Amino acid sequence: EGRIELLINNEQEMVQLGRELAEVSGGHAVIYLVGNLGAGKTTLCRGILHSLGHQGAVKSPTYTLVEPYSVDGQQIYHFDLYRLADPEELEFIGGRDYFEEDCLCLIEWPCKGEGALPDADLEVQLDYNLPGRKALIKAGTERGKVMLKQLLG
Ligand code: ADP
Ligand code: MG
Repeated sequence: EGRIELLINNEQEMVQLGRELAEVSGGHAVIYLVGNLGAGKTTLCRGILHSLGHQGAVKSPTYTLVEPYSVDGQQIYHFDLYRLADPEELEFIGGRDYFEEDCLCLIEWPCKGEGALPDADLEVQLDYNLPGRKALIKAGTERGKVMLKQLLG
């Protein structure tokens, strides 16, 4: 109840998990992506974005902090807060505005924005389980619990 653990054997399976997350998100949700460098956070975001119809590349917005995507009239914001020095800086990149929209927010390194971020519907924690990865997915809201149930079902 409220959490699942998955083994993700390779990059393709990570992209597939992204697809499934995109489906249960219904296009609006807040998803935190937690894990060390190389854990697969951006790969998962790529799976989500491609599933929703984005056709180009997906890179971590390490220097710009956020990359906005508009796909079929739907807004998706991909954050990488690794270089955020202070959660208050989120205001300068318009963080608040993004969070108020009916959009999908994918947030890498949410710990850097602690206190200035909306609650996560789902938190995906990725860890090395070589040669693959493992994912611990936790629901943080009622909506997240529904998403998690759909993910299992
Ligand atoms: P992060 O954004 O967490 O720093 P990336 O998504 O950039 O990590 O992934 C780092 C590397 O790990 C990439 O080369 C990617 O292909 C690889 N990778 C991602 N998921 C898996 C997986 N489940 N098993 C093995 N390698 C993976
Ligand atoms: Mg990344």
